[in-house]
Amino acid sequence: MKPFPRAEISRQALQDNLVRLREIAPNSKVMAVVKANGYGHGLLNVAQCVDNADGFGLARLEEALQLREGGVKAKLLLLEGCFRQTDLPLLVQHQIDTVVHHESQLEMLENSTLSAPITVWLKVDSGMHRLGFGLEQFDDVYQRLIDCPNVKKPVHLMTHFACADEPDNNLTQQQMDAFTQLISDLPGDRTLANSAGTLFWPQSQCDWIRPGIALYGVSPVFGDKGTHHGLQPAMELVSNLIAVREHKAGQSVGYGAHWTADKDTKLGVVAIGYGDGYPRNAPEGTPVWLNGRRVPIVGRVSMDMLTVDLGAEATDQVGDLVQLWGQALAVEEVAEHIGTIAYELVTKLTPRVVVDLQE
Ligand SMILES: *Cc1c(COP(=O)(O)O)cnc(C)c1O
Repeated sequence: MKPFPRAEISRQALQDNLVRLREIAPNSKVMAVVKANGYGHGLLNVAQCVDNADGFGLARLEEALQLREGGVKAKLLLLEGCFRQTDLPLLVQHQIDTVVHHESQLEMLENSTLSAPITVWLKVDSGMHRLGFGLEQFDDVYQRLIDCPNVKKPVHLMTHFACADEPDNNLTQQQMDAFTQLISDLPGDRTLANSAGTLFWPQSQCDWIRPGIALYGVSPVFGDKGTHHGLQPAMELVSNLIAVREHKAGQSVGYGAHWTADKDTKLGVVAIGYGDGYPRNAPEGTPVWLNGRRVPIVGRVSMDMLTVDLGAEATDQVGDLVQLWGQALAVEEVAEHIGTIAYELVTKLTPRVVVDLQE
């Protein structure tokens, strides 16, 4: 018997999603974003499945080093740059590109003696106001990078969108205009688009797109689905039914006796809970997929288990496979029930969930 709960990762879906993203952005290179353990899909799994991506985007140096140790030769970019001066030699040694978004990172580069220059992506704050140099600082910072012997030329240029997942929000166009105007006659590659930019703002695609969630087959937009864009969900989160119980009208179930049956029914107990990363705040009625139908969660999600109302006529058996999200039940829909985004659901799975790559 296979271990459960497990996250089954489809190699084919990941590969097909990369092909689909190349169709959507035919003139762009793809920086596949695999931070946070490949959005919960397994860092090396993902990098090896989409080994023809043009590069990989990461948030931590440790993630980049794991890829190099795993034999990944492609371009790697630290999307938030380097946090410690002592890490810079590792970037040289392992040929890892870095974002420079802050004065402190600029100073680290200026104050180091490195055996070879590092490839730098200068991050401009075009309106998100989280990371990046302001438009008024740009010329000065750019010149310092050009003057710095530890920086490989040309310097590449990047910005990030705040609201690209809202197709009607004109902040995205404003950000594109501000960025484009600022860097118009400079050499170097440009990158603006995350998944939402790639899917909804084709003018933002330019040299490199940086898709994360779309690579996993999930839409970045609330109320939307990856499948609407020709993408396929790459993760199927499954577990097993470990009990089927007769349940009488008037009986409650679980911690806090939170839910009470209004008629006789059967309850199923599924071996997954918040200890696996399935959110405790999933409300009653959140669906799971079992034997070809949706059944609702009832009662509270506990650490190792959750309970579902199977209905009085149910014929489900202990050992039956339950899908929490995947092909049959879109993770986007589950996220809506829970009041979060699919990004959080896939990324927050705990190490107890076995990540199982399907060939
Ligand atoms: C995480 C991240 C991305 C990918 O975002 P998605 O919405 O998952 O496509 C792209 N760029 C940067 C800078 C990021 O931090």
